[in-house]
Amino acid sequence: MGDVIDFEAVRHRLKLRRDTGTVRLFENRDGVSCPVCGEAFDEALATTERSRQLGSDQPLDVCVARESDRLFIFTHAHG
Ligand SMILES: [Zn+2]
Repeated sequence: MGDVIDFEAVRHRLKLRRDTGTVRLFENRDGVSCPVCGEAFDEALATTERSRQLGSDQPLDVCVARESDRLFIFTHAHG
């Protein structure tokens, strides 16, 4: 955790689903590889909040990365 990534490099390939000002949720419909683990992710959540609760009804693997003022969470659903 804590690796710095270049999110803007993949940002244009993602669909913005939600933007609350401090949290942006992106959907990956283009098979973009996770900058952390290299596997295609399902959703990317970018937040400037210091903490964030994640809720999901399905088992998920998550990868976490950060820039100086933003936290990125990439989700990988099983199956
Ligand atoms: Zn990943």
